[in-house]
Amino acid sequence: MNEDCSRRGHVTKFGYRRIRLPGERRLKMAHVLVWEEHHGPVPLGRELHHRNGDKLDNRIDNLQLVTRLEHKRIHSGCILCDDVWWKRCRKCLQSKPETDFYNYPGRNGLMGLCKRCCSRTAVEYKRKRRVRRRRMVETLPATERWRDDAGRRDAPECSEALGEGSD
Ligand SMILES: [Zn+2]
Ligand SMILES: [Zn+2]
Repeated sequence: MNEDCSRRGHVTKFGYRRIRLPGERRLKMAHVLVWEEHHGPVPLGRELHHRNGDKLDNRIDNLQLVTRLEHKRIHSGCILCDDVWWKRCRKCLQSKPETDFYNYPGRNGLMGLCKRCCSRTAVEYKRKRRVRRRRMVETLPATERWRDDAGRRDAPECSEALGEGSD
């Protein structure tokens, strides 16, 4: 059966093998079949993860039963260690516990950047935007510049955010 599973059927656009069982009309995911053979049906709300990342490697040892959230976290580079999720920050590339990341609704529930990098990025962004705006005003014709200065409601940002987020 295992031997069979690795060759029969076709591969879906998501990279999973699907096969049709003899006498059945519906196609089934090969890795689900392998799991069911060993452990019975996959419980509701659970998913199967391919440990080595190879979705066509459907050996039972390569399959792991996970929740949807666990699955997303695994695929976003999280590691579960002593009941704490660790994640690598996309910016500083340091592995940090999940408490060092802001929650993000949806996806894996965590931001890609650690809290420290998040606030730094926000400050950098503000600074860049301020510089860009100032440049824009300088390149405007005199009349436009006058209108911009007059029409702008917010006070000139000089001190704003300079102290924010720095350690
Ligand atoms: Zn997976
Ligand atoms: Zn970071």
